[in-house]
Amino acid sequence: MDLGITGKRALVCASSKGLGRGCAEALAAAGVNLVMNARGAEALEATAAEIRASHGVEVVAVAADITTEEGRAKVLAEAGQIDILVTNAGGPPPGLWSDWSRDDFIKALDANMLAPIALMQAALPGMMERGWGRVVNITSQAVKAPLGVLGLSNSARSGLTGFVAGTARQVAGSGVTINNLLPGIHATDRADSLDGAVVKSAGITLEEARARRAATIPVGRYGTAREFGATCAFMCSQHAGFMVGQNVLLDGGAINTTL
Ligand code: NAP
Repeated sequence: MDLGITGKRALVCASSKGLGRGCAEALAAAGVNLVMNARGAEALEATAAEIRASHGVEVVAVAADITTEEGRAKVLAEAGQIDILVTNAGGPPPGLWSDWSRDDFIKALDANMLAPIALMQAALPGMMERGWGRVVNITSQAVKAPLGVLGLSNSARSGLTGFVAGTARQVAGSGVTINNLLPGIHATDRADSLDGAVVKSAGITLEEARARRAATIPVGRYGTAREFGATCAFMCSQHAGFMVGQNVLLDGGAINTTL
């Protein structure tokens, strides 16, 4: 399917690896020029070079921490005018509800709520002026079904979801859509680190930890960054102009709900 976005320019945050990279690759395959970001310059440059070589699109790589004001200023300055924004950042660490301090919450809110909101505030006015734009926020299945150990994620991402629900309806009349893409369990470094925590707490091997979690997914396996990226690219396409303020869950059927 032609996504109709060849020549558009996208900022894909936190995209040297994992789900962000999946989104960047799928957009590049659709002919979109990219501004990519991550903190580690080496992995970012390597991914950018691979995408340039595979898809022949322009790729600007900006090494910066997207959860800080300075990092965002650097990324936005290099990005210039963008048509598509994919927000993303690392997820908060797991833990226990009784242990989290105010500082832990502020860190999670900065990374997974306030950073995407600030990026939208920066990008939306230009998109609205030009009459076209797409925003996809990478959030989490935790928004639909909380995971106790990820209370920091549950909290911050729910706040972002509330912001998007109201804001998406305010900008839709200008040709700009905002939606959230909710990953269930996907095979990335993040999944490895969460499985690693179970290895320690349950005294099992990494393979056993993976098999246990895979067994909770009706599809019987973890999702891939490629599948995730393809969905993101569709949500950024010309065909998705009527999709507004939605929370699209990609979880292999893991969350057992009717809606
Ligand atoms: P990942 O494999 O660990 O990749 C994270 C990417 O983000 C890397 O490129 C990393 O590069 C970059 N990054 C992390 N913190 C950053 C920051 N502060 N500024 C800029 N770049 C940053 O993670 P993932 O699995 O793709 O997860 C992406 C998001 O989805 C996370 O918020 C995660 O919590 C959420 N999620 C994932 C799953 C899953 O199963 N994978 C499920 C639910 C939710 P650097 O480290 O070099 O910065």
